[in-house]
Amino acid sequence: MSLPTKILMGLVAGLVVGLIANLSGIEQLQTLIGGLQPFGTAWIRLITMIVIPLVVASLLVGTASLGDLRKVGRIGGKTLVYYMTTTAIAVTIGLVISQIIEPGSGIDPATRDALSAELTGQAQGSMLLAAEKPSTVETLLNMIPRNPVAAAANMDLLPLIVFTIIFGAAVATLQEDRKNAVLNFFNGVNDASMVVINWVMVLAPYAVFALISAIVATFGLDLLRSLITYALVVVLGLALHVAVTYSLAARFLAGLSPLAFFKSIMKAPLIAFSTSSSNATLPVTMETAEDEVGVSKQVSSFVLPLGATINMDGTALYQAVAVMFIAQIYAIPLGFGAQLTVVLTATLASVGAAGVPSAGIITLIIVLQSVGLGDQVEVGIALILGVDRILDMLRTSVNVTGDITASAVIARSEGEVLAPAVSVSR
Ligand code: ASP
Repeated sequence: MSLPTKILMGLVAGLVVGLIANLSGIEQLQTLIGGLQPFGTAWIRLITMIVIPLVVASLLVGTASLGDLRKVGRIGGKTLVYYMTTTAIAVTIGLVISQIIEPGSGIDPATRDALSAELTGQAQGSMLLAAEKPSTVETLLNMIPRNPVAAAANMDLLPLIVFTIIFGAAVATLQEDRKNAVLNFFNGVNDASMVVINWVMVLAPYAVFALISAIVATFGLDLLRSLITYALVVVLGLALHVAVTYSLAARFLAGLSPLAFFKSIMKAPLIAFSTSSSNATLPVTMETAEDEVGVSKQVSSFVLPLGATINMDGTALYQAVAVMFIAQIYAIPLGFGAQLTVVLTATLASVGAAGVPSAGIITLIIVLQSVGLGDQVEVGIALILGVDRILDMLRTSVNVTGDITASAVIARSEGEVLAPAVSVSR
């Protein structure tokens, strides 16, 4: 049995066991299954601990072997344009479908107030975190690390990426023997990181089982019921974005057969679903893009770490739906101008959001404020918090799928030949 199949089985088994525990109403059983969480967390740590060595080593080798700075600039420019464009498309899809389906108009004010009363305490936690969010100028300045080791220690990927690219470009200018000494070392670090990933991945199906069953046993489906239309609109939007935007990009920009492509990369979105973190999934994302899609290390080591931090189509789409939902609940009309603001701020907010669980709900506050829903923030967040865990899992899967699709598009645009198994035969 292949690894993705095993992971999928772990996921389904976790869902079933979690549901049984939750619906049985037996408290001991719920506690027992909920107690599996630490095993899942242990696995997330095992895979996360390899992110820094992997990103530094592969990006450094990647940049240094690109040779000249112009190529770095070209790939960087294309990647940014592609990422921003697909994210803006995702936001637009979110806005359009929530306009058509109007998920917020079905909720009566009594349910609204009851739900928000229940969850306002938790929402305040997110509010406090959002208040600490730096301004735009600070965000830009923060991309330049004062100390790359500190950036690595804090898992601040963006400043670390900036440093590593500059350093890699410098290595490229050295004399052959010096350059090779550095590259040999980091190639070794990179290969060893991949070995660790393969070891950790053997445990993935069990970890996925532990994570999913614990979540379902604890939260159950109760909360989902009252917010089902909202959740379904997000799910529909995410599905459309994958089925239309990514399929078209894969087919026409990367020359891939969309179905074969999605099937071959399944492992990465499954891990993203189970961990709710693009960062934690990054090692798997890179391995999948290289081994299954045939993207070169040069491109994957550049496009994917960047994508894990700045490309979050799923998150941006979800924010668009959430903004419309909250506005509809309060019957506050959002005109064309306001929606354009949502496209802009949600795209930028997804750049600013870190690839960690629940990052999206924190940056959502910025988007809400930008369209004058500042007074509704607390109650609005409280309302959607109940289903946020499951939506986080789904949007993270989309974020990661978007990153891999981008790596294929960029690789192809650089003239690379992708894996025959996923390519359209010519
Ligand atoms: N969990 C998401 C990610 O890591 C971010 C978010 O939407 O909360 O990609």
